Amino acid sequence: MLDEFLASDYAFFMQVGASILGFLLALTVLGTVMLDVVGQHRHAAEHDPLTDLLNRRGFERAIPDFGTNSGKDGYPAGAVIVCDIDHFKLVNDRFGHAAGDTVIVGLAAALRNGLPGDALSARFGGEEFVAFLPGVTLAEAGVLANAIRLTFAARDWREGGISQQITSSFGVSFTARGDHSMHDAIGRADACLYAAKSSGRNLVVTEGQQGAPAAGTPRQLRIISVA
Ligand code: GH3
Ligand code: MG
Ligand code: MG
Repeated sequence: MLDEFLASDYAFFMQVGASILGFLLALTVLGTVMLDVVGQHRHAAEHDPLTDLLNRRGFERAIPDFGTNSGKDGYPAGAVIVCDIDHFKLVNDRFGHAAGDTVIVGLAAALRNGLPGDALSARFGGEEFVAFLPGVTLAEAGVLANAIRLTFAARDWREGGISQQITSSFGVSFTARGDHSMHDAIGRADACLYAAKSSGRNLVVTEGQQGAPAAGTPRQLRIISVA
């Protein structure tokens, strides 16, 4: 009886069908594993391992292209915030590199918690961060940056072995018609950050809203808040 069944066409097609199904299943599993591995590698390539924010490469990939992806105003409207920890070298020197790392992670967390969910936040360098906030006005971004500044300055670092207040400085700009790329707006925010540093640190400086910007400089400096 069994021999008859095994010799039948039905059994033959059953076996062929099962083999094909098994093969397809194996391919699907392999494909899923491959996609997972590729996704992990891509995440690692585009994120900063210390803070898990975007790194410079990830930020470059994520920001809108002014040529092809311009918004309804002819450019991707939004605010740019750059920030940098004040006197960070001293923090490293006094409390050690590991303690310094804790502070970098702390500012990243303050940015993550304080910015809208669709903001693109990146760690650009050692203790420098850049964020693009699509659809957020200059004034709103200034308020957000100031809240992050206050949160960060109020943080108690004693658990991380740091027995002093640590502050940060912010520059805020807005993308403008005529910008060739996000880097034009980042440059203006950087100029504001420089102004915040030279005006005493622990400040948010936003570019002014009137007048055309001179190349690379903020149109009008405005100190939102002085601690
Ligand atoms: P300012 O207020 O003008 O910004 O002064 P600063 O001391 O913060 O600026 P500076 O650029 O001189 O110092 C940045 C320091 O950041 C120097 C470098 O050793 C440190 N640094 C860079 N990357 C890391 C990192 O990944 N971890 C730690 N702990 N320190 C870092
Ligand atoms: Mg610094
Ligand atoms: Mg710096």
